[in-house]
Amino acid sequence: MAESKSEQGRSPRIDIVGGGVSGLNTGIEALKSGKQVRIFEAEPYNPTLAQNPEQQRIIRRASDAGSAQWYPYVEGGLNKGEQEDQLQWMEDALDSYLEREIVEGYSSAMARRRNFELMRDAEPMPDYLRGMLEKFGPVKEFGDVPKNPLEYSYGYDFTTLAINSPAMLTALRQEFNELGGNFVSKKIESADEFYELPGDVLVNCTGLGSSELFPDTG
Ligand SMILES: Cc1cc2nc3c(=O)[nH]c(=O)nc-3n(C[C@H](O)[C@H](O)[C@H](O)COP(=O)(O)OP(=O)(O)OC[C@H]3O[C@@H](n4cnc5c(N)ncnc54)[C@H](O)[C@@H]3O)c2cc1C
Repeated sequence: MAESKSEQGRSPRIDIVGGGVSGLNTGIEALKSGKQVRIFEAEPYNPTLAQNPEQQRIIRRASDAGSAQWYPYVEGGLNKGEQEDQLQWMEDALDSYLEREIVEGYSSAMARRRNFELMRDAEPMPDYLRGMLEKFGPVKEFGDVPKNPLEYSYGYDFTTLAINSPAMLTALRQEFNELGGNFVSKKIESADEFYELPGDVLVNCTGLGSSELFPDTG
């Protein structure tokens, strides 16, 4: 069906369910490549919500709560090629953020920060971290660590890009709108409703909401 629609000469339509950081970034990339994009989002977006500790308990959008740092991570059990792909994907994500660093709206949503990754016990330091993170090394002086409630005694000290998530979501929403994307406030109630969406390509970006949409009993 998708092919016959495209053959009619119009650009493909992408329907994305979920308007967190994944859905918005997916939508922006699809718009830039000439697609028509709709995002369906269940929760009204409210940037002040994420800053209110009382409200944080009921937040269902990870992108509202996570103050994200860029920190490369390779999952266990991958072969060498898969590891390289994963690291390349992380480099690409960093490049895409750095390209936006000077763009109005985005510039206030990110900053380079000194950060710490703390552990209970000493672990072998992955080589890729040394090559990818600025000023990377073991924590030498635990007095420099601002928060260490569990009194971990080992960790890494580095500088990386930190994202202010509410500001980033606002900037992504703005870019999505400016590129001509269509943001629809609507919850997709079931897997059937998802598959009935008319887009040529359907993308599930519902994050934790995915378990409700596609009940996973495993
Ligand atoms: C405390 C915390 C700290 C974190 N720190 C980091 C970090 O340092 N670095 C990092 O990279 N990551 C970090 N993360 C993880 C990161 O925040 C998430 O991986 C990311 O925000 C997930 O984005 P998402 O768009 O996939 O999901 P979400 O942000 O959860 O977005 C999913 C969206 O889908 C919508 N939705 C769900 N179901 C439906 C439906 N049926 N119909 C319509 N809409 C629907 C939801 O309302 C929501 O808006 C952190 C997360 C948390 C909670």
